[in-house]
Amino acid sequence: LAEPEVILVVAAHPDDEALGCGASVARWTQLGASASVLFLADGVFARGVDGGKDAELLRRRNAAQRAGEILGFSDVSFLEFPDNRLDTVPLLALVQAVESAVDQLRPDTVLTHHVGDVNIDHRRLHHAVVTACRPQPGRTVRRLLFFEVASSTEWQPPGSAPSFQPNWFVDVGDTLEAKLAALECYEEEMREWPHSRSTEALRALALWRGATAGFEAAEAFMLGRLLE
Ligand SMILES: [Zn+2]
Repeated sequence: LAEPEVILVVAAHPDDEALGCGASVARWTQLGASASVLFLADGVFARGVDGGKDAELLRRRNAAQRAGEILGFSDVSFLEFPDNRLDTVPLLALVQAVESAVDQLRPDTVLTHHVGDVNIDHRRLHHAVVTACRPQPGRTVRRLLFFEVASSTEWQPPGSAPSFQPNWFVDVGDTLEAKLAALECYEEEMREWPHSRSTEALRALALWRGATAGFEAAEAFMLGRLLE
């Protein structure tokens, strides 16, 4: 099975990319892939209403750049849609933003959020990416994968939204430590164990996802579409 070569991660917030697929991206970039990440939601900080929020924006963007270097992203980009309010943005605007990145980067593999997350930005972006990656003639996207984000995906009660049932596992035995190092860049977003967004929980999840598939460690995805 061919490994991804040109990867685009579409994430709502800086830290989602590391939580959701950081170890897989590190694996693929170590194998020679090029990877880009596009963040859509931090506009509430970008408006410059007060200096504290500008500083917060800058801090989080810097964290994303440092995490991106660890994971092997060659391109880390930010759009300024309103944080935690992507439901106030027309879906078409989100679709066009993602389509523009897809047209420019021509990825073979696109990774984004699962549809059933608690976070509204994650759910909204899922729909936008599915629309932007619809398989039309001449499009480059061959694999569409949905990742889980600890402290959002598993917080959705059963029956409230589709549950995350992974069917695509990436062996990250060699790159789990890179993911955890990238998450250290986001120390202000991380929490103490036993919060699910803690280093211990992320390690435990990777071990369990690995054991599910016969690997030392894994990241798990739901396959949206595969074209071969
Ligand atoms: Zn998020």
